Amino acid sequence: MNPAAFPVYLDYASTTPVDAGVAARMAEILLSQKEFGNPASVSHDYGDVANALVEEAREQVAAAVGSTAAQVIWTSGATEANNLALFGTVQYYRERGRHIITARTEHKAVLDPCRELERRGWAVTYLKPDGEGLLDPAQLAGALRKDTVLVSIMHVNNEIGVVQDIGAISSICRPHGAWLHVDAAQSVGKCPVDFANLGIDLMSLSAHKAYGPKGVGALVVSPRVHLSPLQFGGGQERAFRAGTVATHQVVGMGLAFKLASSMSSTETARIAQLQRRLWEGLTRIGGVLRNGSVAHAVPHLLNVSFDGVEGESLLAAVRPHLAVSTGSACTSSLAEPSYVLRALGRSDRLSEASLRFGLGRPTREGDIDAAVAIVSREVVRLRQIAGGYPKGWGAKLSNVPSAAPGRTAAP
Ligand SMILES: *Cc1c(COP(=O)(O)O)cnc(C)c1O
Repeated sequence: MNPAAFPVYLDYASTTPVDAGVAARMAEILLSQKEFGNPASVSHDYGDVANALVEEAREQVAAAVGSTAAQVIWTSGATEANNLALFGTVQYYRERGRHIITARTEHKAVLDPCRELERRGWAVTYLKPDGEGLLDPAQLAGALRKDTVLVSIMHVNNEIGVVQDIGAISSICRPHGAWLHVDAAQSVGKCPVDFANLGIDLMSLSAHKAYGPKGVGALVVSPRVHLSPLQFGGGQERAFRAGTVATHQVVGMGLAFKLASSMSSTETARIAQLQRRLWEGLTRIGGVLRNGSVAHAVPHLLNVSFDGVEGESLLAAVRPHLAVSTGSACTSSLAEPSYVLRALGRSDRLSEASLRFGLGRPTREGDIDAAVAIVSREVVRLRQIAGGYPKGWGAKLSNVPSAAPGRTAAP
């Protein structure tokens, strides 16, 4: 494809481009004759230099998420961090109990390990969120059992941007003695993250959702918690995650997180304005529904269902001009309506006919206006092919749960 004709990218929730300064520093390390050492080598300066870089990056990540550097364990990404958190804790505490609580709207990198743990004999409770995607802390309190060892609840949802009240959730888990794991892969740079103050026990992070490189992340672990390692080898990362630490990768993550936290509030305000512009533009089409809470969400995501069109046709129609997704990248290969939207009570039809718009640092008003124009044109065209719209409008929307005022746009 001709790069000049590349579609407008509005899929920043699936990944972000690496910040240019971050990429430059990473390349420098890769090309350096002094910074290539093994950070675990203690017998010469090459090792010391690499180790100092790794430890500086650890400080940067810790500072961005409100933990101490000693609590940060490098991983290959949030998927690995989630696996280490889930399998590592339940394995270590297997004599204490074998019950886990999570939510239906979690990322597959939490749900799939949970399914595997069910196959291995653990019991898992999947909490159902309300129609806006929010979990009720009282429902969590009711689901806790004597044998509950771990609660895993994400911070910012990757499909709808909804932010869970982690403080309220941790204050329920703590007195009960259940560890709280939080998948915060989408949080850094979008909203404040404070590991210590929120009372989190384990937290997963990813670099590539925050303008860092792919293939690196971290699990932040409180000293209260013990873990059984999942891989064995040279004892790196205090033996929790054996394997040579990739200096250039973790340096990239450290710099990306430092940058993200320094620009977070002004950037979020700018994104919020763009998101309003996008939503206002889309509502003019009519028959559009916003998915997820408006009040408790980051503005970087906008998830919209389009009534009266077929999801797959809509995605195919906008594809040459607009890079968006329906559901998350990790599940969009499955020709299934989003399980996140279904958990909110959306019908299969409206869950399938949804687009997830992810706004990011490079996004400008022109991108938003182009997206609105493309989506409007294609929705109108597809509705005409389907025999006109609105047709049976009231009946079609009757299966939409608890549409709060202002969340449905009249045609
Ligand atoms: C992207 C993402 C992951 C997976 O992170 P990787 O670093 O790509 O493994 C996990 N959880 C959430 C919420 C995500 O958005």
